[in-house]
Amino acid sequence: MAHGAKRLAEAVKGELSGECLCGAVRYTLADGFRLNPYACHCTDCQTRTGSAFSQHMLFRIDDLTVEGELDVAEYRQPSGAEASIFGCAKCKARIYAINDTREGFGSLRCGTLHNSNEVVPAAHIWVRSKQPWIALPRDAKTMDANPETAEEWVNLLGIAGQ
Ligand SMILES: [Zn+2]
Ligand SMILES: [Zn+2]
Repeated sequence: MAHGAKRLAEAVKGELSGECLCGAVRYTLADGFRLNPYACHCTDCQTRTGSAFSQHMLFRIDDLTVEGELDVAEYRQPSGAEASIFGCAKCKARIYAINDTREGFGSLRCGTLHNSNEVVPAAHIWVRSKQPWIALPRDAKTMDANPETAEEWVNLLGIAGQ
């Protein structure tokens, strides 16, 4: 197993925690079923974050405990899914999102994790619109767009800790 992959497996298993920028929102993600994290280079993520890409991890919503006040923004994803993104009501840091195509699951914004420095994307999606100055590792898994089915997501990312 490559060094990067081993580190990734350890970084995203077990109980995880994180918080927003101002500290008003803190969360715990209990040990449970989740997929390995990925980077999304779609233009929506670029615009929403004001950055070059965003980093997500799919988790079971029942595993998440949040303290502090969240606010919510609704939007439609490029795929047509209706999504809601939850963030700190004070500092507006985004914590996680849900959408109507994957009931029971959320998508964590990995930069809010306390150990975000250890979290390595298992794959990069929407590389079709990746910013040209970003050089991905030669062995990175990539997709031009996004997986369509739950099975394709699992095949691309793998289940965390396995
Ligand atoms: Zn905050
Ligand atoms: Zn995206």
